[in-house]
Amino acid sequence: MQLTDLNWPAVHALSKDTPVIFPIAALEQHGHHLPVFTDSMLLGEIIRRASEPLKDRVLFAPLLWLGNSDHHLDFAGTLSAPPRAYLDVLNGLLENFIQHGFRRLVIVNGHGGNDVPGKQAIFEVRQRYRQRNDLLLLFATYWGLGGKPHEAGTDFVQKQMGHACEWETSMILRLAPHLVGDLKKTKEVPPGNAFQPASRGWITKERTVPGHIGTPAAATAERGEILFRTFSDDVVKLLERVIAWDGKSWEG
Ligand SMILES: [Zn+2]
Repeated sequence: MQLTDLNWPAVHALSKDTPVIFPIAALEQHGHHLPVFTDSMLLGEIIRRASEPLKDRVLFAPLLWLGNSDHHLDFAGTLSAPPRAYLDVLNGLLENFIQHGFRRLVIVNGHGGNDVPGKQAIFEVRQRYRQRNDLLLLFATYWGLGGKPHEAGTDFVQKQMGHACEWETSMILRLAPHLVGDLKKTKEVPPGNAFQPASRGWITKERTVPGHIGTPAAATAERGEILFRTFSDDVVKLLERVIAWDGKSWEG
């Protein structure tokens, strides 16, 4: 179900065990060859595919296209919510549906910069409702759900998500090839090793001149289809577990 299609009595009449999904993405630079709306387009397609088998068993809020993208602000066109304001927005969305009586709330993320504020929002809401044992609050990033698209048979160059990379470019080639620029001009930008396994604070321009990180020249629409199928299947599997949760256990 899409929240945007329902009237309020229909939402009120839903079982309060219906999982509510908040897709969150971004609008930010994606190199010379991909549109700034890439993350929102990709997550929108993954959610569209995932919603088909789930039908009326989950409720999808509309995708929040504005994300935490301050690290990309040196590149024209990027829009970013101030990080603390963004944290408040995510808190507010979760609070809204707790007020409406729902108990299973899931943020599904499609942008790396939303990872920290998304998890922090889940953490903060849980602490505020610490007397409740019937709340399930989850955060998941679609490429971090265990799927291994690069093991699907075709020879992927990348083994992990980058930025405007082989993976994202392949998916845009599958979804909207007319928006993809000249890939022959793109050079590989390796992810590097910045003091791993520590987590280094970074801004995008210190890692890449053109804006991408990874190997966009290796992208194909066929790989894009494999990526979409892997990631949407992963989202469905997660949401099936949320549906099957017994409403009280730690395990799920
Ligand atoms: Zn992206």
